Amino acid sequence: MSSRRPTRTVQVGKLKIGSEHPIWVQSMTCTETADVPGTITQIENLVAAGCELIRVTVNHDRAADALPELRAACPVPLIADIHFTHRLALRAIEAGVDKVRLNPGNIGSEERVREVVRAAQDAGIALRIGVNSGSVEKDLLEKYGFPSAEAMVESAMRHCETVESMGFTNYVVSLKSTDTKTVLAANRQFAEKTDVPLHLGVTEAGRPGYGSLKSAVGLGALLLDGLGDTIRVSLTADPVEEIPVAFDILKATGARVTSPELISCPTCGRIEIDLEDLMNRLEEKLGGETAPVKIAVLGCVVNGPGEAQEADIGIAGGGGKGILYRNGKQVRIVPEDQMVDALYEEVLAWKADNATIPTA
Ligand code: SF4
Repeated sequence: MSSRRPTRTVQVGKLKIGSEHPIWVQSMTCTETADVPGTITQIENLVAAGCELIRVTVNHDRAADALPELRAACPVPLIADIHFTHRLALRAIEAGVDKVRLNPGNIGSEERVREVVRAAQDAGIALRIGVNSGSVEKDLLEKYGFPSAEAMVESAMRHCETVESMGFTNYVVSLKSTDTKTVLAANRQFAEKTDVPLHLGVTEAGRPGYGSLKSAVGLGALLLDGLGDTIRVSLTADPVEEIPVAFDILKATGARVTSPELISCPTCGRIEIDLEDLMNRLEEKLGGETAPVKIAVLGCVVNGPGEAQEADIGIAGGGGKGILYRNGKQVRIVPEDQMVDALYEEVLAWKADNATIPTA
């Protein structure tokens, strides 16, 4: 993986966004924002799942009326999502949100955008300048013929210039599209031009199965390039489902590892242990564990020593037993029914040996 693209630090409530800080996971509530109890319940569920920034739509005055109560109940930074009506952005800022996301392309005029920037500046909060392929300005659509990556980047740069001409730097940018290739090209091009932190997302990715894969392809490629300071996986599902997918994408790319990585073989005719049952029990045993340890579990000795050498802990099953490896060296042989406990003991030993490794 490339090293992380250097980006400035943006303060969002108590959270700092930028390359000096972890890549944070964000989501958005799907309740009616004006339904305060329902929205608070969803916020609590998202936070319990690990969500670190939460966005709520502010689509009318009743939603804006709910913001002070939501702000008070939300333990993580709260972001107001604004489209079309800059007046609602001003109301959200007054209500004490930590960040406003707006697409300048659909706010109506540059003066309205400037009004929001001034209010954010006075309140000391952050902004996200969102550029979606669906909200690229008309003149850029005419120039490029369609909402290409180039059109999106030119739009983003135009808004960055407006914001920075006012001396405002506490903002991030997102360039989103439903087309993965456009997302990749737009973010890569934008990253070359500025040090503004990037919020990554493949918008409207779809149902959890395909949507998770599509997000993994788009976000994963950018994260492997060292791009991205916050991410959101957009699924047509309870937003709580987005959170583990986002953390798994961060883990698979090595961008941020907050739980053990389990490597296991697909099994084949050589299998000599009940690997699926073993993995189920191991996953359950490690539930909530945050150590960034790599554990390889192989169904036979064919790849055992090799894979175990690359992992921190490894086990290769065979004949009702498992050969246990630590840092590539065989340490002991354990019966199949004790493999999960033996692996867990090794995880605890690994944690003791690596107590200084940060988990986030
Ligand atoms: Fe088959 Fe062994 Fe490879 Fe697993 S590790 S897929 S059981 S050869």
